Amino acid sequence: MNRTRIVVIGAGVIGCSLAAEFVRRGADVTVIDAAEPASGTSAATFAWINGNDKAPAEYSLLNFLGMQAHEREARRGGRWFHQTGMIQVAQSASELEQLEANVARVAWDEYGARVLTREEVLTREPQLDPARIAGGAIYPREGWIDVETMCLSLIDEAITAGAVFRPFRTVREVGQGHVIAVAEDGSAERYDADAVVIAAGNGTRTILADAGIDFPLLDPSENADGTGTPGSSVGIISTTGRVDSGIRHFVRATGIALRPARNGGITFADHPTGGQWAKTDPEIWSVPGILLDRVQELYPSLRDATVESVKLGTRVLPKDGLTVADWVDADRRIYAVATHSGVTLAAHLAATVADEVLGGARHESLETFGLGRFAVDFAPGR
Ligand SMILES: Cc1cc2nc3c(=O)[nH]c(=O)nc-3n(C[C@H](O)[C@H](O)[C@H](O)COP(=O)(O)OP(=O)(O)OC[C@H]3O[C@@H](n4cnc5c(N)ncnc54)[C@H](O)[C@@H]3O)c2cc1C
Repeated sequence: MNRTRIVVIGAGVIGCSLAAEFVRRGADVTVIDAAEPASGTSAATFAWINGNDKAPAEYSLLNFLGMQAHEREARRGGRWFHQTGMIQVAQSASELEQLEANVARVAWDEYGARVLTREEVLTREPQLDPARIAGGAIYPREGWIDVETMCLSLIDEAITAGAVFRPFRTVREVGQGHVIAVAEDGSAERYDADAVVIAAGNGTRTILADAGIDFPLLDPSENADGTGTPGSSVGIISTTGRVDSGIRHFVRATGIALRPARNGGITFADHPTGGQWAKTDPEIWSVPGILLDRVQELYPSLRDATVESVKLGTRVLPKDGLTVADWVDADRRIYAVATHSGVTLAAHLAATVADEVLGGARHESLETFGLGRFAVDFAPGR
């Protein structure tokens, strides 16, 4: 029996997850990327795994399914999900009220969210400055992903099981049944496929524009405008050098979020602060210092920490901020996946999309995440 030939475009967290999943299901897989694995948005992500406080309800559920899929991957041996739990810290009575409301909004008992007393917060995170803590909440199934390890492990799993990986090839044309990619020496290569799955992050729009499809993804150059709004696509992720911090959880407080990092340091970010500037604005480089001050106020034990690395990321944002996972042509030969929260969603999207592309029914969790909600013309056959 001939195996289904799948070409995956993009080796970010979505493409690498898809590659491993297609191989597990017996497909003949080729992965193409313009660069190395995990070098796009997946290289500059906070990688917080969560499904709380996301709207609408279907998107929140999709993220919770994403968390559960990561738990399954961990049970089958994946070593990249650090399920530390997330502690949200309240520093005042009004923040405590907001936090209680947020815990009450989490729709699922299995999520395990619960309010903590001030003493419980300090027992779990003993290095926090007690003078700043009024109380907190814990979300025990949340955590963070070591994205580089995840991508490299999954692409390695796929290659070991027979997939072909073609890095440093830029896809210039996608048709129904083929892909044309150009190598760094300018030579063009053709790949034939039963189905092409585009997981090219912010490159998805360009690839599909060339195929005659106006894919509903925000153009980062249009919304990286320094508005500081949740719609801003720019994000800045900072990491300290190795430090004996005693930080055990993913921790959030007003104006700062932080977590342990793979280098033994602490990674920290704040979207409203980091999203205030365009990537090219020199002022953006003030963000790591501003945020490190906030980290050190919460954790006096980090007073000697210094910033070792800073990454500027560009979010992959469909026009309504939600996930798109759908066929883009009437003949069902070209499928596209583009999403924010892609680290949380990768394992679940990989399983459900692979199923659908290989002929299975559409998973009910994807029902509201198709292209039907946008006015998109399907690709003309070619
Ligand atoms: C600052 C920031 C913080 C974030 N925080 C979180 C978080 O806490 N939790 C969470 O779940 N998500 C978070 N995200 C979102 C998450 O990181 C992204 O949704 C995810 O990384 C997207 O992965 P991807 O594989 O779709 O895209 P990418 O990682 O960008 O991968 C796409 C790949 O496609 C390749 N490509 C593009 N065009 C072509 C072409 N023409 N030919 C060949 N290859 C091509 C690129 O080289 C790239 O390797 C954050 C994002 C940012 C920017």
